[in-house]
Amino acid sequence: MPDLYTSEHEDFRKTARTFYEREVVPHHDQWEQDGIVPRELWVKAGEAGLLCFDVPEEYGGPGVDDFRYNVIVSEEQTRAGVSGPGFSVHTDIIVPYLTSLGTDEQKQRWLPGTVSGETITAIAMTEPGAGSDLQGVRTTAVDKGDHYLLNGSKTFISNGILADLVIVVARTDPEAGHKGISLLVVERGMDGFERGRNLDKIGLHAQDTAELSFTDVVVPKENLLGEEGKGFIYLMMNLPQERLIIAAQAVAAAEAVVEMCLDYAKTREAFGKPIGKFQHNRFLIAEMATEVRVARAFINECLSKHLDGKLTAVDASMAKWWCTELQNKLVNQGVQLHGGYGYMMEFPIAKAYLDSRISTIYGGTTEIQKEIIGRSLGL
Ligand SMILES: Cc1cc2nc3c(=O)[nH]c(=O)nc-3n(C[C@H](O)[C@H](O)[C@H](O)COP(=O)(O)OP(=O)(O)OC[C@H]3O[C@@H](n4cnc5c(N)ncnc54)[C@H](O)[C@@H]3O)c2cc1C
Repeated sequence: MPDLYTSEHEDFRKTARTFYEREVVPHHDQWEQDGIVPRELWVKAGEAGLLCFDVPEEYGGPGVDDFRYNVIVSEEQTRAGVSGPGFSVHTDIIVPYLTSLGTDEQKQRWLPGTVSGETITAIAMTEPGAGSDLQGVRTTAVDKGDHYLLNGSKTFISNGILADLVIVVARTDPEAGHKGISLLVVERGMDGFERGRNLDKIGLHAQDTAELSFTDVVVPKENLLGEEGKGFIYLMMNLPQERLIIAAQAVAAAEAVVEMCLDYAKTREAFGKPIGKFQHNRFLIAEMATEVRVARAFINECLSKHLDGKLTAVDASMAKWWCTELQNKLVNQGVQLHGGYGYMMEFPIAKAYLDSRISTIYGGTTEIQKEIIGRSLGL
């Protein structure tokens, strides 16, 4: 398969790598303690050109509709071992809703800030009682003429504390099943929009993941995204890209695990020789190296298809479950290979272990991906 990346992509990769090394790595331990990254980091990322490539020039973006750049930013963040900045959820998942569904007026209003990093975004689908089953959302938006009255609560929302704009999945018609779901954009400062706890997670410690609540929030009709009642369809259209980027992050993380294991196996000695010289460990790392090669080939195939506009929902589901399960398997094996040091937070493998655990859950669980694939097979 020809190389997917050109020299321009590789130059951009260097920019991203330098950014993470200079602006993120030195501060990340502190931000993990804080449970959040500072807003200034977002503005620096905007200045470095790392946010929202696909935003057209007329709305303040570079207008580069080439998903390879998105993947590069994620790969470099993963490579640097810094899970805090929620850039991917912003650039790869949320802003595409605004670019694809927004009216000209909405795009003028919202997009320039998303590119500069001054406007941070979140998407609020999940509720305390509804995650996998999105049709079960209970948040309601009642039509009051020139506005909707929004009531409900959401949980596990990435960028939830920092967000200035939140795309809220709400029910505009309680009788219409999935055809009664719409997307509303709630803005920072609207009366009745409150943030709850910044949730205490087992990993991703510098990422703000929050509860949000909406009590009689007046959302003007100008903040309806796309058409009323089509929210579920829009989610289904956008989820494949979300799943693809999570899969790509998983492959990059798995590659990093193999590197960590290889380094360790060559330097750590037991019974008078490097542990990599024991056949079990040599075979283990041989298997790991093979599995990440297979994953890399598969993710590149999916990425190529996505660049051609041909990635199906089933392709994305296959990539999502398989790559994230592989990531989790390898990082677990990696901890074992590191012995007691694998359990110490000062070793990158320990942090990778905690940060990876979510990947088979968010963006749709492994089980939901298999449901989608199974149904496509007529089962
Ligand atoms: C760190 C983090 C960040 C997140 N970020 C966001 C965000 O930004 N925005 C957002 O909206 N949400 C976000 N989420 C929520 C995430 O997408 C959901 O947690 C996930 O979709 C699963 O939903 P749930 O937690 O309600 O689990 P449930 O749906 O209750 O599932 C529980 C278990 O049942 C299984 N299950 C459910 N239905 C089926 C079925 N039909 N067949 C087989 N098994 C099934 C699941 O696979 C799972 O194992 C985030 C979550 C976390 C932890």
